[in-house]
Amino acid sequence: MTKNYIKISEVGPRDGLQSIKQVMPLEAKKAWVSAEAAAGVPEIEVGSFVPPRILPQLADTAELVAHALTIPGLIVAALIPNLKGAENALKAGVHKITIPLSASETHSLKNVNRTHTQMITEVKNIAALINNLPKDKRPKFEGGISTAFGCTLEGKIETDKILALASALMDAGCDEVGLSDTTGYATPRHVVKLVKAVKGEVGNEHLTGLHIHNTRGLGLANVVAALDHGITTFDASLGGIGGCPFAPGASGNIVTEDLAFMLDSMGYKTGVDLDALFKVREIVQEALPDEELYGFTPDAGLPKGYPIGYKV
Ligand code: ZN
Repeated sequence: MTKNYIKISEVGPRDGLQSIKQVMPLEAKKAWVSAEAAAGVPEIEVGSFVPPRILPQLADTAELVAHALTIPGLIVAALIPNLKGAENALKAGVHKITIPLSASETHSLKNVNRTHTQMITEVKNIAALINNLPKDKRPKFEGGISTAFGCTLEGKIETDKILALASALMDAGCDEVGLSDTTGYATPRHVVKLVKAVKGEVGNEHLTGLHIHNTRGLGLANVVAALDHGITTFDASLGGIGGCPFAPGASGNIVTEDLAFMLDSMGYKTGVDLDALFKVREIVQEALPDEELYGFTPDAGLPKGYPIGYKV
């Protein structure tokens, strides 16, 4: 991995589709994942192992994982809310699982119906399950601290609470923690403060990823702030679709296309072919004709002659 490498993790098929009423047909999801991987996106969170009655939009996650695993080199990720979800994710053979732990206990109860203590016990049980697998079959296990920058239900979340949860997740057996701005409350200075504090608590290599929403238009500014403080993986969704059905007012993720353009223009290596990435929108738009796709760069087009003379 080159020094300047930044990983873009596409979460649209999970975070995006779970917030849209319309169910995208499996064939369209497969085409989306294939096209985006072909455009060079290295990691895709293809779904969530939740009961279909809760999120019918993601009921075909196991089938989509099976398809995604046939794509050479792609890191196939999935979200899991609990032990049962983890069992299904392991059965499906994903490379990475993320369990969301909401820093706001009110949100945790609404989202997964569990307190912090119950969630940490669940994390321990999942870690035990993973450790029973042969070493080469173990997925990377991330504890994603959601509502880390504030909650629409509880408001401000104290840094000490985040640090306690981060360290509890690591002690319970996670390989790393991630920070999620589920509600779009993050600002650049808050990002710097929290990233530094959490890295200080769990160690530099155990916090590498950030999951940002663009609710207040600060998504990319937050990315730039995080880049300067050692964050190397950013979640984003194609066309900026997404949100959280249980956090009222939370809107979509940062736009993959804009993120890829910004990183490229800053001289970071992402492996993404921008023109090929922009074309993936056609697949998503065709399958979701009623959804508005966002993205400044794909709308405006790349600057004339880009990249020659533009990268500084
Ligand atoms: Zn999200």
